[in-house]
Amino acid sequence: MCNLCKTIHGNQGVRLFVAEDTRNPNRKIGNDFCEDLLCSLRIRRLVAVPPNQMSETIGIEEKAVRIIEEAERFFDHCY
Ligand SMILES: [Zn+2]
Repeated sequence: MCNLCKTIHGNQGVRLFVAEDTRNPNRKIGNDFCEDLLCSLRIRRLVAVPPNQMSETIGIEEKAVRIIEEAERFFDHCY
């Protein structure tokens, strides 16, 4: 599952992004994101979404805010 847009991809479509942790250079941090980084388009259904997704009660704007917050959380701590 992509930790930005929460799309479940199955065996392909999501990739682990890894970077050095700015708080500890001996440590790496990683997070699973859509490998094409089309999360913003995916929540708007402007690109194909794999079938059998979990339904969510939040709207597109809330999903967009969630993507921004998750991305900031990841990139604030990596080079
Ligand atoms: Zn995604």
